[in-house]
Amino acid sequence: MSEEHTPLSVALSQLKLASKKLSLDAGMHKMLSQPKRSISVSIDIRMDNGSVGVFNGIRVQHWDARGPFKGGMRYYPNITLDEVTALSMLMTWKCAIADLPFGGAKGGICVDTKKMSKHELERLTRRYVSLIADYLGPHRDIPAPDMYTDAQTMAWIMDTYSQLKGYSIPESVTGKPVEIGGSWGRTEATGRGVIHCVKQAMQNNQLKLKGASIAIQGFGNVGYNAAVAAHEEGCKVIAVSDSTGGIYCPDGLNPEEVLVHKEQTKSVQNYKDCKSITNDELLELSCDVLIPAALENQITRKNADKIKAKMVAEGANGPTTPDADKALYEKEICLIPDILANSGGVTVSYFEWVQNLTREQWPLEKVNRKLEEKMTKAFNDVANLVEKEESDMRTGALMLGVGRVANAIKTLGLWP
Ligand code: NAD
Repeated sequence: MSEEHTPLSVALSQLKLASKKLSLDAGMHKMLSQPKRSISVSIDIRMDNGSVGVFNGIRVQHWDARGPFKGGMRYYPNITLDEVTALSMLMTWKCAIADLPFGGAKGGICVDTKKMSKHELERLTRRYVSLIADYLGPHRDIPAPDMYTDAQTMAWIMDTYSQLKGYSIPESVTGKPVEIGGSWGRTEATGRGVIHCVKQAMQNNQLKLKGASIAIQGFGNVGYNAAVAAHEEGCKVIAVSDSTGGIYCPDGLNPEEVLVHKEQTKSVQNYKDCKSITNDELLELSCDVLIPAALENQITRKNADKIKAKMVAEGANGPTTPDADKALYEKEICLIPDILANSGGVTVSYFEWVQNLTREQWPLEKVNRKLEEKMTKAFNDVANLVEKEESDMRTGALMLGVGRVANAIKTLGLWP
């Protein structure tokens, strides 16, 4: 497969491969290859200077056979229907692999948030929610934060939805601030979940996580929290990076101290006694585990041959291109795919939804314990299928996710 493929063409070819291996019939394959609903809206708002701003909003709901649609809302200028459709499909598989009672969705608004005031963003969010409210709800479709949206955005979505219905409905979104029903541990969940997968992969191969060397690209939510979790497990975090470049310290870094330095200087660079490296050099370091946790398309056919890590755990969505995937598999590098490795976030989103529905607030220890249980189970469900099918982990994960959704659709049957 060439690297010129779009996110949707990659998602569709992954589905085709899984469908073939699962011997799904043509009708089922066709049903799964299309979202159930794609909503496109024009969002008109009053800008701070009195003019009218017109923005395009999208929500794609892929499949809900296993439970309500679930997925992030992203705000950025060149968001496309194709890309959002691909991401909604991946959410369906991700929720099924983690065995959560959710389907998959994705949505967002074409907007450059850096050019908007907070008041404009609030009006934009509320107007968008009002336009798609009939299709949202705790048992229909539950949004979550994604690129350039955050806990504040979720609070506006929850409040708008609640105002329209006439009562408070915290279970209508996840990723909210804790004081209005968010879950403890949601912020750290994706990074922690990546390390639970790495731990299980090491255990299954009779390797020890303690003392393992880890290099992490990206020092944001996922990268930083993965670094903290790895450090807690006794790993050596030998390199981290952000958009300004990376730092390398073979004896291991303390991620919390690096964060303090980053907050003071706006960069991880020039942290004490570390060697400066580029993001490309970080990816090519000799280490036990490489965690790309920044952007898509970082490991490509151009650098796949130079990857020296023994294991790659995808914290980011889509950091490895299909060509590179193949190259890593041929080099016998264990790759834990994004749809499994970064499912900790949606798993704790599920815990948040359950807490809201039951009007409970679980302590952090309970959230973290249940997260580890769920991630370990998901990892082993995939690993068992991989062993049986003699496949790579991405194919195994896709087969598990697609197979569970197809089974649910078959069992429900078609109405009328
Ligand atoms: P974030 O914005 O908090 O952090 C991104 C980090 O990447 C920042 O440190 C940034 O400086 C760095 N970065 C940007 N450009 C870079 C470059 N060229 N080279 C190296 N680093 C660069 O984002 P996040 O929430 O940590 O998300 C990271 C990835 O994980 C994304 O692909 C996202 O879709 C995925 N993801 C996030 C979550 C979640 O819960 N946050 C869940 C699932 C998947």
